[in-house]
Amino acid sequence: MNLDVARNLDAKDPLASFRERFDVPANTRYFDGNSLGVLSHAVRDRVNQTLNNEWGADLITSWNKHGWIDLPLRVGDKIGALIGAAPGQTLCVDSISVNLFKALCAVLQLQPDRQEILSTEDNFPTDLYMVQGLNALLGSRCRLRLVPENELVDAINTDTAAVLVTEVNFRTGRKLDIAALTTQAHQQGALMIVDLAHSAGAMPVQVDQDGVDFAVGCTYKYLNAGPGAPAFIYVASRWLAHLQQQPLQPLYGWLGHADPFAFSPTYQGADTIRQFMVGTSPIVSLAAVDAAVDIFSATNMQVIRDKSLALGDFWLQCMDDAQLLQEMSCISPQQKEERGSQISFTHPEAYAICQALIDRGVVADFRAPQYLRIGFAPLYNTFTEVAEAVNILADIITTQAHLAPQYQTRNTVT
Ligand SMILES: *Cc1c(COP(=O)(O)O)cnc(C)c1O
Repeated sequence: MNLDVARNLDAKDPLASFRERFDVPANTRYFDGNSLGVLSHAVRDRVNQTLNNEWGADLITSWNKHGWIDLPLRVGDKIGALIGAAPGQTLCVDSISVNLFKALCAVLQLQPDRQEILSTEDNFPTDLYMVQGLNALLGSRCRLRLVPENELVDAINTDTAAVLVTEVNFRTGRKLDIAALTTQAHQQGALMIVDLAHSAGAMPVQVDQDGVDFAVGCTYKYLNAGPGAPAFIYVASRWLAHLQQQPLQPLYGWLGHADPFAFSPTYQGADTIRQFMVGTSPIVSLAAVDAAVDIFSATNMQVIRDKSLALGDFWLQCMDDAQLLQEMSCISPQQKEERGSQISFTHPEAYAICQALIDRGVVADFRAPQYLRIGFAPLYNTFTEVAEAVNILADIITTQAHLAPQYQTRNTVT
């Protein structure tokens, strides 16, 4: 019955035509776009073109001829358009971890009298590790304070140099109110660093309007740019203005120099977002990001958000109809407005269930200690595959198929 409802919803879906732009493998219902987005034809073509026509044929001249040298800035601006950033503030470069290091150094420099980086206990580990690494380097000049997510607003005080949050929690899928947190941070004189790993490409983001100071995010999740494709960093223009006096981050790479090709022995940072560049970009991957973000220009983030929430609601409804919610309880917010683009469930056998699902063509993922995550990528997921996936899940649970020994041993990457 839910399959009929699903077909109806698919027929009315304004994003239905996007699915054919992606190479979803046959017999695969892919609900892991929150970890690694699906390959699109545009990205495949662009990578081929970069390999054959640019690197292959034009070799070194491509830095000028194909504009490789400015690609981090051009792609950065396209990502900026998806996160509410006016041009000149976003750069496509490095990984989230490295970009966070730069942002953390910048806030400590801009706030010489404050030492505390305030974050949430269950923030994504790399975000917390980067602060711990800085603490190992700088001692009391950089301290990490962690509080539960629901105590964050009240924990911001006049010792806080910056609040470091991920907009959407990677385990629970809970979405924070970035505008409200930023207002509160600013009232206490603290700056705001936001990790958009689970936001960019999944929902509207308004970094300029919300007054966010620094943001980072990756391109291999909802932006579908491929494994390890470069991440991005956003620096609000009011902080970029400080670059005229001094660099804001200590990774003095040659490509962040004001004039890299002067090859001067002395560093002088560029006074634009380019100062946040360090070394040579992975051009093949960066070209993939360029093509991947172009796909979004044919729609808008609100349409994507609406479908994302509808897919999530429909998944929950199908689970409810199959009486699966008693078996696996949902740890994501009940109110859909408080959710990102994923729904998570808890079950002692979550790992084995996830493996059994994958064996039956439903790709989800597992996060320790016992969460099953279902990610919704509105550009290629359909309501029909939601109904099919929940039917398969119901079958696994009823037959206890997940208890088979082959599903019990863990792989390195979960
Ligand atoms: C995926 C993810 C990362 C990944 O960081 P990289 O350095 O790009 O590997 C960081 N933070 C969050 C919140 C994530 O979800």
